[in-house]
Amino acid sequence: MRIGILGGGQLGRMLALAGYPLGMTTTVLDPAADPCAAQVCPHIRGEFDDFAALFDLVKTSDFVTYEFENVPVETVRWLADRVPVFPPPRALEVSQDRVTEKKFLESLGIPLPPFQPVETRADFDAALQTIGLPAVLKTRRFGYDGKGQAVLRTPAEAEAAWLKLNGRPLILEGFVTFDRELSLIAVRDRGRAIACYPLIENQHIDGILHRSIAPAQACGEELNERAAEYASRILQELDYVGVLTVEWFQDGPRLIANEIAPRVHNSGHWTIEVAAASQFENHLRAGCGLSLGRTAATGVAAMFNFIGTLPNASDVLTEPHAHFHAYGKADRPGRKVGHVTLRCESAEELQAMLPDWDRRFSRS
Ligand code: AMP
Repeated sequence: MRIGILGGGQLGRMLALAGYPLGMTTTVLDPAADPCAAQVCPHIRGEFDDFAALFDLVKTSDFVTYEFENVPVETVRWLADRVPVFPPPRALEVSQDRVTEKKFLESLGIPLPPFQPVETRADFDAALQTIGLPAVLKTRRFGYDGKGQAVLRTPAEAEAAWLKLNGRPLILEGFVTFDRELSLIAVRDRGRAIACYPLIENQHIDGILHRSIAPAQACGEELNERAAEYASRILQELDYVGVLTVEWFQDGPRLIANEIAPRVHNSGHWTIEVAAASQFENHLRAGCGLSLGRTAATGVAAMFNFIGTLPNASDVLTEPHAHFHAYGKADRPGRKVGHVTLRCESAEELQAMLPDWDRRFSRS
């Protein structure tokens, strides 16, 4: 099987690497001269609306997938007329606009924070009246890693946020007081079978994922089952094929949806070493029409992102539990340049080691 990927970042690279043992070949399309996936597979250089480049991708692909959400939907629809595209274009369309996404999730009965679309100052004032403070003002589109958003706790902060963000279509959301943030990675194959990895606990710093723990501790079967059931509603409604990630706020027994990502996800990197089949492998297996591999965790994992600066492998691998990943990118502030997954046999072993790991692998 030949797989085309829109985007040549680390997720594309990890997809390409997962395809090798399965005999799959991968080509990425990316506008950059040297995207990091190009170190491990062929690269077509082109913008996502460069139809000559897209046509080259069609010619070298049995199916096409994408590794980030900000690919134009028109491009994906154009491709889908010529070659199978997974996940389906509608999934991309829904996830690109926070209001469309929230209305979609609402229509499926999935719990959400209160929200209102905001275009004008009058909309903003009305939304503040209805939702109240604290709240979060976000751009509807092209937000990622906490960019294009502001937390509003006071009227002065509301004014400052409006001055910073207005001029673009916005959404005002109620601020959720949560115990912790979780994500669920689910996958659906072409025969409509669904499998879910266990819930993952995520910590963000400055809006960027910092640490994931999987399986999330003290979650219980019920929370996992509910998250899986909500994800199944989404997958079925979209007639989805491939990996889907749902990000959650947990407030006691409640799960409140934050957003969905129609792709493999940073919070699922641990599945490479600590699940029988990784999210990357299962995404490819789904797209190729193969059955899914097992999604149960085979241990307990803590994953830390390396942001901005890649440590030396020799410093990280002094820790025998460590699996070190370098993305082949130059260091740059705010950039994801690698990660480490630490694998334990039990929750007790993880708890005993976590304070030390937090010290070693946390950004200051
Ligand atoms: P997002 O880009 O929507 O994933 O938001 C980035 C981060 O901001 C999330 O991971 C949360 O930590 C925080 N956040 C986003 N929306 C809300 C909300 N409605 N209430 C509380 N925190 C939020």
